[in-house]
Amino acid sequence: MRTRAPADPEVREFTAEVVALDDRTVTLDTTYFYAESGGQPADRGTIDGIRVVDVQDDGDAVHHTLASSPDFEVGDTVSGVIDDDFRTYCMRAHTASHVLYGAGRRLLEDLGYGGFDIAEEKVRVDFTTPTDIDDETLVELERLTNRAVWDSLDVSWEEVPTEEATAREDVAFNTKTEEGVMDDADTVRIVDIDGWDVAACGGTHVGNTREIGPVTVLDRSNPGEGLTRVEFAVGPGGIGRSAERHRALRQTAAALETNVDDLAETAVAVRSERDDLQDRVRELEQAAVADAIDGFEAVEKQGATWRLGVLDGVDPNDAGEAAKEAVDDAGVVGAVGGDERPYVVVAAGSESGVHAGDVVDAVTDEYGGGGGGGPPFAQGGGLDADPADVRDALREWESTE
Ligand SMILES: [Zn+2]
Repeated sequence: MRTRAPADPEVREFTAEVVALDDRTVTLDTTYFYAESGGQPADRGTIDGIRVVDVQDDGDAVHHTLASSPDFEVGDTVSGVIDDDFRTYCMRAHTASHVLYGAGRRLLEDLGYGGFDIAEEKVRVDFTTPTDIDDETLVELERLTNRAVWDSLDVSWEEVPTEEATAREDVAFNTKTEEGVMDDADTVRIVDIDGWDVAACGGTHVGNTREIGPVTVLDRSNPGEGLTRVEFAVGPGGIGRSAERHRALRQTAAALETNVDDLAETAVAVRSERDDLQDRVRELEQAAVADAIDGFEAVEKQGATWRLGVLDGVDPNDAGEAAKEAVDDAGVVGAVGGDERPYVVVAAGSESGVHAGDVVDAVTDEYGGGGGGGPPFAQGGGLDADPADVRDALREWESTE
């Protein structure tokens, strides 16, 4: 006997005769326990007061696994009680997945079913569609789903000949989750949400979409195989997530000194202002470095004017750029900076007769560290010396060529 749960999902208590018993595994002549199938978990509950820990359908019969070995025997009449909270959650969550799919029909191209899964915290539905489910589409999926819940659409189900069902273009099929129905080749269970969605499905469903309650879409992802996964929550978990998001929105709006409606616009404006300020700060820093180099002492040697000095709190790359900018054809600029392990940058004009790389090599030979460069520009870093000492060494440096 297959489970009667999909046909009569409201039944929570029943009596049945034990037809087989193997230690903790019980088979009944009739059962309303839902056997795990596709993405819907097995029902919880009790048989003659003993907890049911698993329910599986092996294709021939439904087997209930109990938490402990029962006292009853084959031929006895037992009473089954299905955990109402968990079944109700599964019915609502499962029907919500159909409603979400119906919303997908209105928003996504070439839509197909790729599977679904009901967990305690969230439900996932996998779509096959070439449409990119971007933020806007995701929000619209949620809005349409909740709208269909509010519209209180009747949900009905019936067995129809498999041939007839597969010939209908409006029926969503998923061979993974409907295996329980599909392998019973003659008929298939069709679940119809009035005017919204039609699917072949062997799960348990509520009789009207309003029973689902609020649906909170959580996120989307791409698990591979061309699937787009949408996760949502129903019940207290979903309501809680919704409240958390509302709280976060309000906190963010307060932090930006605006209101929720203007939040996106304000965030864009704040970001643009930040970018402008960063650019401005950068310009000022560059101007400050240029000014500092302008103020370096001038040293005349071997026919060229050297400007030498120490820079405070300037990044080596910025110092290098500023040195290249400041040097003229006949001159040389040498700057030293940094605290722990100082750097040196040297820019030499094309008519200065100075090879910047030779200067830096002489410095690193003397003070360690590394670096190098060509005639017009060179830099070294990791020097083991006080910046002022390095500047003094530059002052003394003379070309030996
Ligand atoms: Zn279903």
